[in-house]
Amino acid sequence: MDKLYDVIIIGSGPAGLTAAIYTTRADLKTLVISGVKWGGQLMLTTLVENFPGFPEGIQGPDLMANMRKQAEKFGTEFVDDDFTSADFSSKPFKISVGDKTYEGKSVIIATGADTKWLGVPGEKEKIGRGVSSCAPCDAAFFRNKNVIVVGGGDSAMEEALVLSKFATNVIIVHRRGSFRASEIMIKRVMENPKIHEFFNAEIIEVLGDQKVEKVKVRVRPSDKSLPAKSKEEIEKITPALLQFKVLKKDAETITGTIAIDGIFVAIGHMPNSSMLTGIDLDDQGFIKIRDHYLTNVVGVFVAGDVHDNHYKQAITAAGFGCAAALEVQKWLSDQTA
Ligand code: NAP
Repeated sequence: MDKLYDVIIIGSGPAGLTAAIYTTRADLKTLVISGVKWGGQLMLTTLVENFPGFPEGIQGPDLMANMRKQAEKFGTEFVDDDFTSADFSSKPFKISVGDKTYEGKSVIIATGADTKWLGVPGEKEKIGRGVSSCAPCDAAFFRNKNVIVVGGGDSAMEEALVLSKFATNVIIVHRRGSFRASEIMIKRVMENPKIHEFFNAEIIEVLGDQKVEKVKVRVRPSDKSLPAKSKEEIEKITPALLQFKVLKKDAETITGTIAIDGIFVAIGHMPNSSMLTGIDLDDQGFIKIRDHYLTNVVGVFVAGDVHDNHYKQAITAAGFGCAAALEVQKWLSDQTA
């Protein structure tokens, strides 16, 4: 065993780092297992405009670097590696990173969430060869090209807006007839002449030899749900833009291919909880919370996107990190009282 900590925080996004700032300021010996790719999802974004305190916005990676610096200032220790196992069956809890094991009187799980992929044939093998989940990382590779963004939430809108700075055309392919994103993001997308909406459409296969060349799409055209500007038949609208080639048509669906250079998948995230043996999860893999950010194991707390399937914001994750840290402080002081 290497060391005994008052609290071990697994994860280094806004939840984990906020928790660390609070626990170290409360004089608790704190270790953050930050992961090889520390910083969480904000490391993959550009301008964050809705984190309070930054009227001009702040770049996601800068925000995370500031949070880390703040935690380090108060004495948080970091292991920039992925945890390999966690043993919550007895106290102190044991968190292993490779061949090192760290002991904690308490633990805060703040492992966040990762990209959800479509899971269609051809997608996985083309990640990095035209399939991406990060426009801020990869948009520059698609200068003067045609790209698809999949999804109907704020992430999809954000990806499309970033891509529109480089690509010739950005087509948002969404499985429903309207977006669920916030009004302001939808407005920005609708006003952008490079971005086009392709509603009631699902990608069912990614095609191409070495890289993405086409996608196979199944469309359910319906006058009611198609956007006003796309009232014509799908195959009449799309050829000009996308060379939509109809493969199959029946009473309700049209299946065809679209020639495309890249696909950005923005359909949400999956909680990083699969390695947490002994912790109760819901049917989607999110950690179930008992009283005040406690899991089913007394002494193991949770914060951020790994339990929050509702708000999923950096600021709410930070708030959950604060709350979990306060609960840890109270719980530890009750143990010694
Ligand atoms: P989300 O709101 O859950 O939206 C996911 C979208 O992907 C939905 O439109 C969903 O379709 C679609 N989808 C899910 N699974 C799919 C599948 N297998 N195939 C095709 N489409 C699929 O996720 P999000 O956009 O990542 O946003 C998550 C949270 O972060 C939200 O609260 C959002 O407001 C926030 N966020 C905010 C900003 C910002 O303010 N700048 C930026 C990014 C994210 P259905 O609509 O049919 O379910």
